[in-house]
Amino acid sequence: MQVPFLNLRAQHDPLRPALLNAFEQVLESSAFAGGKFVEQFEHEFAEFCHVSHAIGVGNGTDALWFALLALGVGPGDEVITTAATFMATAEAITVAGATPVFVDIDEDSYTMDPAQVESAITPRTRAIIPVHLYGRMADVDRIAAIARRHNLAVVEDACQAHGAVDQGRPAGSIGDAAAFSFYPGKNLGALGEAGAVTTRRSDVAARIRQLRDHGQVARYRHASIGWNGRMDGIQAAALRLKLPNLSRWNEARRRHAEAYERLLSDCEHVVTPRAPGQGCSSHHLYVLRLNGRDRVLDAMGRRGVTCGLHYPVPVHLQPAYSQLGYKRGALPVTENLCDTCLSLPLFPELTTEQVEYTATALKASIAECGVRPFVAVA
Ligand SMILES: *Cc1c(COP(=O)(O)O)cnc(C)c1O
Repeated sequence: MQVPFLNLRAQHDPLRPALLNAFEQVLESSAFAGGKFVEQFEHEFAEFCHVSHAIGVGNGTDALWFALLALGVGPGDEVITTAATFMATAEAITVAGATPVFVDIDEDSYTMDPAQVESAITPRTRAIIPVHLYGRMADVDRIAAIARRHNLAVVEDACQAHGAVDQGRPAGSIGDAAAFSFYPGKNLGALGEAGAVTTRRSDVAARIRQLRDHGQVARYRHASIGWNGRMDGIQAAALRLKLPNLSRWNEARRRHAEAYERLLSDCEHVVTPRAPGQGCSSHHLYVLRLNGRDRVLDAMGRRGVTCGLHYPVPVHLQPAYSQLGYKRGALPVTENLCDTCLSLPLFPELTTEQVEYTATALKASIAECGVRPFVAVA
């Protein structure tokens, strides 16, 4: 049996006639860059996230960058975030002119440890970016309480968390602003690049609308320096079609994650993801921890199962950030996660047989590699 890490064809094939019809409508109207399809999608996505504003942009990295700029982050500032994330979280901070300051993650949730935030705050700190890693929401309430005491902004990196909910509140509805990515492999994926910022704040929304469109307030009237960061009409039309399916897709991801959990419950060699206490994850990725990760990854490949690594190198140890001076050992929980993580295939269209085959292949691979049982660092 072959189990791919992702199968976008399986998701798009049933939607093909509807997608082609949507492209016809975009062609008819020529609303290619911004325009009515983007406006309609913004309206629907804002409603989905329980916020008053969603602003469609070119990708998730732009969404993070624009959110920081709109909240006044700039040169000389520091922004606190985690290093267990995709590079873009920190990159946006750097491109905004500020400096990322990394704190460690919680051993259970793999999201920002709120207990470490306070001691990372300096007079230069302007904002905090918690990352809803793998689809599980960070403890935004505790982080927001700290932010309020120190007058800091909170930007949720919700690029993996479309549809995640914490105590009734969707990802993207809690911070001052949140960034979403619609990269094709995300829970809600475009057919190319796209992203969005969500916010309850009208001032932030207005600022981002300017930033994504060259600082324009009226045609050829530029009130500020912005950028070309618009969402395009074809992507918005596709996203509008896909959004009504998102809850059902996330539900299918949850079922597969629960099946993995059940099938691996007798396997002392792995740590499976902890279920969130008060909320529901978007189940973007199913990430285990185990010893001998690289050998098991290869052995899984030989059994026809493609696994992933999210992420093999923590951001603070990337060569691109050597000037920040972080050394190995600075963020032990993050580093251990990066050394031991293995992502099993998790997408809505997986079959029960594929999930069962993957779990069986994992146990066989672990036995073949003679892996030691996993013991947590902390
Ligand atoms: C995907 C992702 C991004 C970047 O989104 P793009 O649309 O690829 O620019 C940022 N942060 C996280 C956590 C992501 O997973």
